[in-house]
Amino acid sequence: MGRQPRWRRVGSIPQVTYFKPAGIPLASIQEVCLSVDEAEAIRLKDIEGLEQDDCAQRMSVSRSTFARILLSARQKMADALLNGKAIRIEGGNYEMAVRHFRCGNGHEWEVPFEKMIEQPPELCPTCHTSEIMSLWPWRPGLRSGGRRLRGRRNW
Ligand SMILES: [Zn+2]
Repeated sequence: MGRQPRWRRVGSIPQVTYFKPAGIPLASIQEVCLSVDEAEAIRLKDIEGLEQDDCAQRMSVSRSTFARILLSARQKMADALLNGKAIRIEGGNYEMAVRHFRCGNGHEWEVPFEKMIEQPPELCPTCHTSEIMSLWPWRPGLRSGGRRLRGRRNW
């Protein structure tokens, strides 16, 4: 196929990344692996309740790709829930949605998008000047986390 992997934009990484059914010894538990982008799809659609178009836009993917990620995520969760499997959340093709800032003294840093919505930064974390500006938009090439593809998924 030779398709370039696309990075899906993720606004939040779950704090808890492992769920296991009660009463089953760990050794005999089967696991499903939910990627971080799949978890994000569930979060946007089912927790935030956004329309698919908005979800796709937030993750920077096409609508059909979003639908595919969501379907896969729901199937995995259903499989885990109904078949008593553990869920591990990790890996996948994603980049954090971050905003980049620069202060008057040339320091640059990034702030996760969701944190920025809650509380936009007011001071440079290095020199504490309040003379800061937002660099728009997300600068390509700066990605953090989750670049390894675990498992057999090949988009
Ligand atoms: Zn500074």
